[in-house]
Amino acid sequence: MSSTTRKKGAFAHLITQLMKLPSIGRKSAQRLAFYILKMSSEEASAIGQAIIDIKEKLSFCEICNNLTEEPVCTICTDPKREGTKVLVVEEASTLYSIERTGEYRGLYHVLLGTLAPLSGSEISGEAVKKLIARLEKGKISEVIIATNPTIDGESTSIYLTRLIQPLGVTVSRIAFGIPVGIDLEYADEVTLIKSLQGRRVIEQT
Ligand SMILES: [Zn+2]
Repeated sequence: MSSTTRKKGAFAHLITQLMKLPSIGRKSAQRLAFYILKMSSEEASAIGQAIIDIKEKLSFCEICNNLTEEPVCTICTDPKREGTKVLVVEEASTLYSIERTGEYRGLYHVLLGTLAPLSGSEISGEAVKKLIARLEKGKISEVIIATNPTIDGESTSIYLTRLIQPLGVTVSRIAFGIPVGIDLEYADEVTLIKSLQGRRVIEQT
């Protein structure tokens, strides 16, 4: 095999691999592959190593499924967190977004997916079992469901509510509505309906 053929093979192989990532089509994969080709060997190796590292060093928290380098994550082991509240998210990325706000001091539970009635795929039974086991211990008094406002996210919320309420735990759903800074005139119908449903009484000052 000539070195040109080998190169072409390696290039096509990288494109195929990159296309496995979400939102990456052939064109984007090709653009990324060209970009990587132009990088220094050190830079390109750093990307490769970072991918190897997350697979080797990171795993899911035994309690909440957050990403962690230890068996239990730093949120679950933090004694300063409010141990009576659990906020349920689809993916750890949402957990990080909420953490960045600094508004929430309770615990989390990451589902690692949703109940997907349209695609017919099952929610991770293991993740739900873990959540119910946590609730059965009796310390948690409120579960805040923060799944996405999509059909799958809503179905997951209904499914979890039905499972959790009989355990005597309060279930709440985060409010959805108008993004800050937009004109109401431009909000779509579903968003307007959701914002009306999620309205709250303004406390007297
Ligand atoms: Zn955890």
